[in-house]
Amino acid sequence: MKFEDPNSVIPLGSTLGMLGGGQIGGFFAEAALRFGYKVAVWDPSPNAPAKRFATVSFDAPFDDPATLREFADVSDCASLEWENVPVALTDGLEKLIRVRPGSRSLGLAQDRTKEKGFLTDHRIPVTNYAVIENPSELGAVQLELPWIVKTATLGYDGHGQWRVSNSQEIAETEKVLKGDGPWVVEQVVSYRIELSVVVGYDGNAGFESFPPTENIHENGILRISISPGRISEEIARRAQDLAKDVVKNIGEPGVFCVEMFLLENEDLLVNEIAPRPHNSGHHTIDSFTVSQYELQIRALVGLPLVTPQQITPSVLLNVLGEEYTQLTDAKTTDWIAENRNARIYSYGKPDVRPGRKMGHILFNGPSQEDLLSAALETHKMLAKG
Ligand code: ATP
Ligand code: MG
Repeated sequence: MKFEDPNSVIPLGSTLGMLGGGQIGGFFAEAALRFGYKVAVWDPSPNAPAKRFATVSFDAPFDDPATLREFADVSDCASLEWENVPVALTDGLEKLIRVRPGSRSLGLAQDRTKEKGFLTDHRIPVTNYAVIENPSELGAVQLELPWIVKTATLGYDGHGQWRVSNSQEIAETEKVLKGDGPWVVEQVVSYRIELSVVVGYDGNAGFESFPPTENIHENGILRISISPGRISEEIARRAQDLAKDVVKNIGEPGVFCVEMFLLENEDLLVNEIAPRPHNSGHHTIDSFTVSQYELQIRALVGLPLVTPQQITPSVLLNVLGEEYTQLTDAKTTDWIAENRNARIYSYGKPDVRPGRKMGHILFNGPSQEDLLSAALETHKMLAKG
């Protein structure tokens, strides 16, 4: 594998491997099939949504060496949809097939201490933070309160996070933190808005990015994404430059999403890096000439990246947990479908779990204000159930 020409194009008809089989892997697979590729999906969950689009799929745990070999046998290259795939797996695969993005990106994104260290080393602005190895060190942290304490690994959708606002909560959180450290303690910033920028990198000099998306979270879970974000052109340009700078410093080809905070003083701080397309970028399927998934495929197979042009503004509403049951009620489906600017997406997840991303509704149209009020009205309707 060492001798593969990184600029060679993986021909149509080849099989693209996907590590992880959720909605992101699913949208990747749909885009790959449209191109003329086949898809192999590896996800330990037998009913993972992306498997619906796979020619071949694997259910073994990610540390199974026999499946690694089988997966590499059937796949001409591989990408991922989830940062918690073990680095040992991508390391092993990289010896056999092309993997984009690779182990370096994955290693950074799956460990907040490495991620923060990397960003700081490259002079990318981040929130003030401290790393603790042991819960008993929490009391000695020298940061202005309030804080968010985050597990270094395996956090998502706000899981593995504790808010701390006073000394009593410091003592309480110390008791709650169990298991293996380290933890990252971050100062809570009061941001004006949250933004995410999706960047594609071809591994040479080619970068393409989408305009920043504005994200609204509820209880740590992404709820609404507005594209383009309601910011000035100057801030949009700075956010895109910052995201590109992050990806350039990582230096691996692929699609990445950089999450950031826009502060009241208009400074931008990087929150997190995802080495993959992002849930705040699903709208790019409908509202751009090229989606984040198509860019991921292009970066993976070595086809030229192209500049995504926005066709229409959009607002994306995530459908979480039981709201999905409400969405499938015929009257609700009918009510949403009556709005011809609304598109219903279901991810095909077999079990409804609280807070789980089950689907989204995408609103496209000229007036962002109208789209947002339609999204909020739909949010209310779905939450009723
Ligand atoms: P996801 O999987 O959705 O990206 P996550 O569990 O990896 O989430 P973060 O992105 O670090 O965690 O945090 C989730 C959300 O919590 C952020 O999008 C933001 O709304 C809020 N948050 C996190 N860190 C801070 C901070 N330092 N100051 C203010 N808000 C924060
Ligand atoms: Mg995040």
